[in-house]
Amino acid sequence: MTAHTRQRFEQWLLHRTNRRRFLTGAAALTATASLRGRPTQVVSAESSRATTDTPFTLGVASGDPLPGGVVLWTRLARDPFDESGNGGMTADPIAVRWEIADDDSFTAIVQTGETTASPDFAHSVHVDVTGLRPGREYFYRFLANGEVSPVGRTKTAPPADQLADRLRFGFASCAHWEHGYFAAYRELAREEIDLVLFQGDYIYEYAPGDDYLADDDVPPPRHFAGSGPADTLAGYRLRHGQYKTDLDLQAAHARAPWVATWDDHEVANDYAGSRSAVGEDVDTFLARRAAAYQAYYEHLPLRPESMPVGPDLTLYRRLRFGTLAEISVLDTRQYRSPQPCGDTVAARCDAALDPALTMTGPNQEQWLLNGLDASAARWNVISQQVMMGELAVKILGTETLYSDDQWDGYPLARNRILHHIQGAGIRNPIVLSGDVHSAWVNDLRSDFTDPNTPVVATEFVCSSVTAINPLGDRLALILNTNPHVKFLDLRHGYTVCDVTPDRWQTDYRAFRSVERPGAEVSTIGTFVVQNGQLGAVT
Ligand code: FE
Ligand code: CA
Repeated sequence: MTAHTRQRFEQWLLHRTNRRRFLTGAAALTATASLRGRPTQVVSAESSRATTDTPFTLGVASGDPLPGGVVLWTRLARDPFDESGNGGMTADPIAVRWEIADDDSFTAIVQTGETTASPDFAHSVHVDVTGLRPGREYFYRFLANGEVSPVGRTKTAPPADQLADRLRFGFASCAHWEHGYFAAYRELAREEIDLVLFQGDYIYEYAPGDDYLADDDVPPPRHFAGSGPADTLAGYRLRHGQYKTDLDLQAAHARAPWVATWDDHEVANDYAGSRSAVGEDVDTFLARRAAAYQAYYEHLPLRPESMPVGPDLTLYRRLRFGTLAEISVLDTRQYRSPQPCGDTVAARCDAALDPALTMTGPNQEQWLLNGLDASAARWNVISQQVMMGELAVKILGTETLYSDDQWDGYPLARNRILHHIQGAGIRNPIVLSGDVHSAWVNDLRSDFTDPNTPVVATEFVCSSVTAINPLGDRLALILNTNPHVKFLDLRHGYTVCDVTPDRWQTDYRAFRSVERPGAEVSTIGTFVVQNGQLGAVT
């Protein structure tokens, strides 16, 4: 490996940037997309101002389906690019009517109500609808100031005590605006799915041009709005607002309810609990975290009970899809110990073997293990952020290196979970992860150094929507030295899971490039886990 390649590889693992600035005033790029027959709308930072009077510029969303309910979301913003982050709205609260119906033309409205979009929450609304029927498709929309929103489709979870026939969902992570177009969201919106899971890095916080790792001296395909990184409430609102103008992203939200969790870039690169990885003191960082968490709440379809309190937001939770599947959604950022060996790609240091090190914090860990023990589900899913499978990097002439920000930095915490799953005989455990900007299938083992130990669980890792992965030609090296890795692909994309009582199938979808709009999708890998059998097979 040349010094340059090695440096690039470490940058990838570290999510570091080369801090190269592109010139401002580069040719303005315009993102154009059409969404399900609606008029084409032009949105980009450079096209500056919204062209209509409607406050519904950011789309609609639903989330966290229960058998009897779902959360409905929208945010009113006449001008998403207003740098104050207020969406071009005045400080007045606005009455918003919501409607949920059996049909997309709203001839059979089943519930309607009114809520208030408050400037305290950037004129977002989170409606916790109850009293719906289980396992049913619904359509919803909002009305405000005489305008009507786009229509969203959602679906409630199946009846709690029934073994549902099927659950189909997509999952994705790492959508970097400046690295390309959200073809993965466009295609997710075309999938026959009940649900979308998101594994984190929904936004990236960097200043314009600060995280672009292209080979050539070319500007990124598109630009962040504003100047500087998102690090204040106004800045995070502006960043989220810009993302929400993307019509492919809007389409993916309008297609199915999302169950989202975050990773680091919703706040700042590689943070751990109250520790900033970019040099802020604890008080400064916690103020930043509070701003980021509030903006996250304002822009995602979370239940009002997730409303942040200062720098705290409880995001870990469990969703059940009858007795077919139970999904434990983790937060491995808010409560984690600082990366033990210097937040780098490093040889394993003694500090990594401290049993007090944690990814989840002790409360969440106990909640996870108790929940797995109590589960009646056929498939037990852990939906989380960074890769759980070991990734031993053996570069000629050096010690074995591990990425300190992944579960590899916290090996005893990983063992506690995997050993518990094995010891308690948890039924059909599946781990879903993101973060590494590449697609993987891993056998999770109680001892990764011994390929003869039994498989404990299967891990599926989705690639990035757009975030660049400069892993380059390291593919063969990783596959040769990590026999538990069954699949690795470096293209951008997303993943679809089709779950029935007897069989779990995961399909990896990918794009050759996402630097221009309109990338064509293809399926690059299909893996199956049979009920009662550990490990994925092709
Ligand atoms: Fe990422
Ligand atoms: Ca990440």
